[in-house]
Amino acid sequence: MTTAIWWIRRDLRLRDNQALAAALAHGDRVIPAFVLDPQLLASPYVGSKRLAFLLGGLRALDGDLRAKGSRLIVQRGDPADILAALMSESGATAVFAEEDISPYARARDARIAGRLPLTLTSGLTAQPLSAVLKPGGRPYTVFTPFSRAWKAMTPPQPRDIVAAPRRIETPDDLHSLPIPAGPALSATVPFVPREAEAQRKLDAFVQSGVDRYADARDRMDLAGTSQLSPYLRFGMLSARQAVVAAFEAMRKASDREARKGAETWLNQLIWREFYVAILYHFPNARRESFRPELRDVPWRNNERDFQAWREGLTGYPVVDAAMRQLVSTGWMHNRARMIVASFLVKDLLIDWRSGERHFMQHLVDGGTELRFEVDVRTGRWWMNLPIPFAPRVVRASFETIMGWGREGLARTLGVPVELCSTDGGEPIGRIGSRA
Ligand SMILES: Cc1cc2nc3c(=O)[nH]c(=O)nc-3n(C[C@H](O)[C@H](O)[C@H](O)COP(=O)(O)OP(=O)(O)OC[C@H]3O[C@@H](n4cnc5c(N)ncnc54)[C@H](O)[C@@H]3O)c2cc1C
Repeated sequence: MTTAIWWIRRDLRLRDNQALAAALAHGDRVIPAFVLDPQLLASPYVGSKRLAFLLGGLRALDGDLRAKGSRLIVQRGDPADILAALMSESGATAVFAEEDISPYARARDARIAGRLPLTLTSGLTAQPLSAVLKPGGRPYTVFTPFSRAWKAMTPPQPRDIVAAPRRIETPDDLHSLPIPAGPALSATVPFVPREAEAQRKLDAFVQSGVDRYADARDRMDLAGTSQLSPYLRFGMLSARQAVVAAFEAMRKASDREARKGAETWLNQLIWREFYVAILYHFPNARRESFRPELRDVPWRNNERDFQAWREGLTGYPVVDAAMRQLVSTGWMHNRARMIVASFLVKDLLIDWRSGERHFMQHLVDGGTELRFEVDVRTGRWWMNLPIPFAPRVVRASFETIMGWGREGLARTLGVPVELCSTDGGEPIGRIGSRA
């Protein structure tokens, strides 16, 4: 009887899981293992809401595994040592895991692959990470040609989606730690951490959201986006399944607006693939600005301004409401993210890395690869657009929202009205308006 380990990292799902499928193909018995890595847990980028979401997801996954005759084995320590011990305890002959791309994850996996029979599978993105390259084999650094090349590839099909296994045989004599009880997920975080919830949200969005997405996604007063980002972040939904759903919605679209909605949503999923690819091909960009011309910006970095931004006390209602929404719910609408990030770097002249750290401490969907969103995008705004809140649509929604007052803002952002106080006093300064 052969045994394989399915090493779970950010793929907390049974459906369309290529690492799990590979483990099941290799072994009669599969050990679903999650290693609590003290190095990662101690990172200043790990926020309690994201950690609580992960732990909740592990509990749900354990329940789902038990329904299949298996269970989750949880250990704490250096993954290399834990996996080696688990292999000798169980007689497992192989370890399978979904590829991860942060520099830390890649160094760890390379180290472990030198010691143990570790096989990495695709799954983090819908198209394999090293498949979208320029004709000469170099990676893209600009989105439009990347997306053109991405779209020229054969898209994943519904038949590619791997069904959840009906049963998983797991040795029953293995030691497992209990899943840590805390931190608990705050009741203000509106995301239920489980695969079934991701499927429900995807179905609901495809049924009655994606058709109007092209326009609705600009409106912070509508729940016009999928709100799937925390589930994609932790792999409770596969990127491939989301992409297949987008193509299916395009195929079934009843009119031009519906097709445009699905196509626009597909583009957002491709943005995600693009940022993942950037981090994969340019790991050094983790430490410095991706754009060389933005490495020496003379940031003002005023601590008082930064504190006001973090606490939602800038005096600019939309910025303040969005920042309080972030701290309370762990999520923010894309347009609000653009506004507060732009405000931070262009109005307050604060280094985007400080903002990124605050985002990462609070976002349930916070992911290393998305740091480039702040860097590349706000960088581009910085270079080309001297007016604060420059993208036209964001400017328009900002100006509309400014006139709405507390109740309107609360409705817009879907947060309790208490979060929308505009009691920050006088708006803090803009570029040029103070020394
Ligand atoms: C300053 C800033 C920071 C951000 N930080 C993060 C982050 O840490 N984690 C994160 O998942 N997203 C981040 N985003 C991207 C985007 O705002 C969120 O993914 C989106 O708001 C999540 O809502 P949704 O799931 O309803 O998205 P939808 O509009 O339904 O889009 C579907 C999916 O596509 C992906 N996506 C959407 N927009 C983008 C984008 N602009 N770039 C890359 N992928 C995208 C996400 O995975 C999202 O779940 C950031 C954007 C900005 C401007």
